[in-house]
Amino acid sequence: MTDAKALLDSRETEDQASAETGVAGTTVDSGPGALPVAGRLSEADAAPAPAAEISDEREREVRPRSSNPFVAVMQWFDTTARDAQEVQGFGGRQKIEWVRMVPFAILHLSCLAVLWVGWSPVAVGVAVAMYAVRMFAITGFYHRYFSHRTFKTTRFGQFMFGLIGSTATQRGPLWWAAHHRDHHKHSDQMEDVHSPKQHGFWWSHMGWVTCKANFPTKLENVRDLARFPELRFLDRFDTLVPILTGAAMFFLGMALDALWPSLGTSAGQMLVWGYFVSTVFLLHGTFTINSLSHVFGTQRYETGDTSRNNPILALITLGEGWHNNHHYYQSSARNGFYWWEYDLTYYGLKVLSWLGIVWDLRPVPARVRDARPQRRER
Ligand SMILES: [Zn+2]
Ligand SMILES: [Zn+2]
Repeated sequence: MTDAKALLDSRETEDQASAETGVAGTTVDSGPGALPVAGRLSEADAAPAPAAEISDEREREVRPRSSNPFVAVMQWFDTTARDAQEVQGFGGRQKIEWVRMVPFAILHLSCLAVLWVGWSPVAVGVAVAMYAVRMFAITGFYHRYFSHRTFKTTRFGQFMFGLIGSTATQRGPLWWAAHHRDHHKHSDQMEDVHSPKQHGFWWSHMGWVTCKANFPTKLENVRDLARFPELRFLDRFDTLVPILTGAAMFFLGMALDALWPSLGTSAGQMLVWGYFVSTVFLLHGTFTINSLSHVFGTQRYETGDTSRNNPILALITLGEGWHNNHHYYQSSARNGFYWWEYDLTYYGLKVLSWLGIVWDLRPVPARVRDARPQRRER
């Protein structure tokens, strides 16, 4: 964590300013008539590499490289384990790092175990509940809190959000937010590593997480979050919480089997449904926002990218499917801009605000929402 420390020491004041103002569209609320800069982060919050530098990195990275399989295995458990040849450059279309992706493959293959463990209403019910709770954690916490800072909470609340979000098995909060901020900075440009327009549909859906260049956490993108050691811990050991989540499902099944055998479940069944099946659906549900939400749907706003509003994806992702709205105005805690645009994540955040757990949910100002709407069917 030496690199993080050095970074933080030198930029602490800037971090504080950044944490106060939030990430996206900080100019939007600054005065009458101010309009959002679609799909862009403020300069104070991130330090993109100069275009020429990115281009050089890309040139180097697309060439096949040999990698150290032992380091790749260590990275299953400790994300700071580094290969000497590690390149933290451009992560557009390139070769898959197979050894490191073994757990990802196992996660998918484990779903086939339903053939052996069978099913029961309680196991499927727990799988659905685990999907819903963890999708909320991804959209409400990883996305709308860590990536965009659209509301506030305490430091303990922030840690809990990171901890609950980690159960989703989408790596740590810093890695997730750092990549997502890059997505908004470079939406559908060559530097956007999961742009279907630039790198193809499957790379945008899941290919981009499988390559070496997108593995490290870009701390320069998340200076406001990296100052918290508890968040860096979650980010460094990002398989710890998922392993504990799987174990919790196993013991839940074991307890239900012992205490209420009439439910017809077992330790193995609950592990497979409550963790493996639920997590795979959750992964691909989340991935649709990078892939399908940039391909199918309508565009209310001219954002200069391919982001779409899609009511089906908004259901699957508890509100994230209003993705064109979100690209237009990232500072808002709600992605559904009108009452008929259901946004279950926002409703959940409202409940948390009534309980005093979060506050200062940033709204979308009507003058911004209604400014020059341009709907075009795709
Ligand atoms: Zn976003
Ligand atoms: Zn997007």
